[in-house]
Amino acid sequence: MNEPKHPSVIAREALKRLATSQLAPTPANYQACYNEIANLPNLPPFPEGPLRELLSDLPARNEEQERQLDRLASAISKRSWQGIKESLVAFALAGESRVLEGGVQHLAQPLPSEFAGKLARFVECVLPALGEEDSRVLSVAGELLLLLRQPTVEIGQVQALFGSLTHQAVFAAEEQVEIKGSLLKLLHLIIENIGELSTDDNWLKGQIDGLLASVAPPLTLRHLDEMERRLRDVMEKQGRAKSRSVEAQAEMRQMLAEFIERLGVMNKSSTDFEGRIEASARQIEQISSIGDLKPLLDDVIAATHAMAEETAHSREQLKSLQDKVVVTEAELMHLHQELDSASALARHDPLTDALNRKGLDEAMEREVSSVRRKETPLSVSLLDIDNFKRLNDRLGHEAGDRALVHLADVARRNMRPSDTLARYGGEEFVVLMPETTLDQGIEAMARLQRELTKAIYMAGNEKILITFSAGVAQLAADESGTDAIRRADQAMYLAKRAGKNRVMGG
Ligand code: GH3
Ligand code: MG
Ligand code: MG
Repeated sequence: MNEPKHPSVIAREALKRLATSQLAPTPANYQACYNEIANLPNLPPFPEGPLRELLSDLPARNEEQERQLDRLASAISKRSWQGIKESLVAFALAGESRVLEGGVQHLAQPLPSEFAGKLARFVECVLPALGEEDSRVLSVAGELLLLLRQPTVEIGQVQALFGSLTHQAVFAAEEQVEIKGSLLKLLHLIIENIGELSTDDNWLKGQIDGLLASVAPPLTLRHLDEMERRLRDVMEKQGRAKSRSVEAQAEMRQMLAEFIERLGVMNKSSTDFEGRIEASARQIEQISSIGDLKPLLDDVIAATHAMAEETAHSREQLKSLQDKVVVTEAELMHLHQELDSASALARHDPLTDALNRKGLDEAMEREVSSVRRKETPLSVSLLDIDNFKRLNDRLGHEAGDRALVHLADVARRNMRPSDTLARYGGEEFVVLMPETTLDQGIEAMARLQRELTKAIYMAGNEKILITFSAGVAQLAADESGTDAIRRADQAMYLAKRAGKNRVMGG
């Protein structure tokens, strides 16, 4: 085989040939001479212009066709005929499959059984959300499910029924939205009315305001849980207040009865008195000597005495009744106030305003039941301030108290709204973190540690660095909240042993 000529040699020879063969000196003739000498096929020049024109005229009807047009543009730029061919074929096929999708041929194909199964499950899952009122939805869905469970089913059949179900489902879903809206309105109205019935009760008013806020959309299960808890509180409180007022009413009725009886006695004695005075007066008219007056006067004095005694006695009794009313009223008021503050404080630690043990128990119960229902992770953390005794000893108990408040404030500021902070013991806190895995829980507590170092606590003029050690545990299936806290406690203990100011997973 001959050595291939160098392009510069070919170029020179091509020019010579162009001259000797007396061809017109056009680029095409030069190219032809060049190709002949270089032993290359004499191809026409690359038609980039017309190809680009074609590209801009081709309409893309779907994403795939768009992609293929991009490929075509790039192939034209690279002058790759292979690329141009492939992208054009793919472009054509992408258009074809679109035509087939609606075509009879495609519809007659069987639906893959795995897809049929998934579709059936989807319909089953969505159905309860559409309510049970609309029989049309139920019957179409029933038909579709029956069809999907057959060994082979054609796409066309499924498509027809699915289309009809979609059509019905739109109405049913709209209806569900309306029902939900109306129920919310109704609930609002009921709560407002309860509130108006008990306008004199601060505690109840606070609860009602909270309830009204929690009835506002979006209506999540967490919202509903909270609402249920608050409603229970309101009902319990109303029940207690009612039985108290029934008692108070009975007492008042009893007092009133005694009072009326007393009045009767008074009335009778004053009538007696009047009778005796009248009789005496008549006798006085008839007496002629002063000596006769003596027994009469004795009589009047005795009657007056009796009357005065009776009146004093009655007055005393009335006074004591009155006192009793005042005392009962004050007692009731006091009880009410006590109940109000007890209810407010019952779940909160008065120093830090974090939940107390009772509040934590309730919150934990709620979170655990939500975990079981939604199968989402719940992480709990137990944190214990490092060297708190030293802080107390050095700066005093009060500064220690303020440090606890500071920690609770920083924690609340940095937690998610759905997290719960509770004071577990002296300088120990528990944090409940719903929808949080163990790793995320550890990360959250480490973040709190960083934030606490940034948020400086001042005791007088002194900057105090507060640190804590924490253990985190993720609630296991079938594990109680108490056990999860215990595991978090064990992890916290390990964090202390490892040198404090760290977070460990349990
Ligand atoms: P460690 O790092 O191992 O946790 O050491 P510590 O000193 O923090 O732990 P220790 O359990 O030995 O001491 C806890 C101290 O917390 C003892 C107690 O006086 C103090 N404390 C508990 N409750 C309160 C409170 O309500 N206010 C104040 N100021 N101090 C409290
Ligand atoms: Mg401790
Ligand atoms: Mg401690």
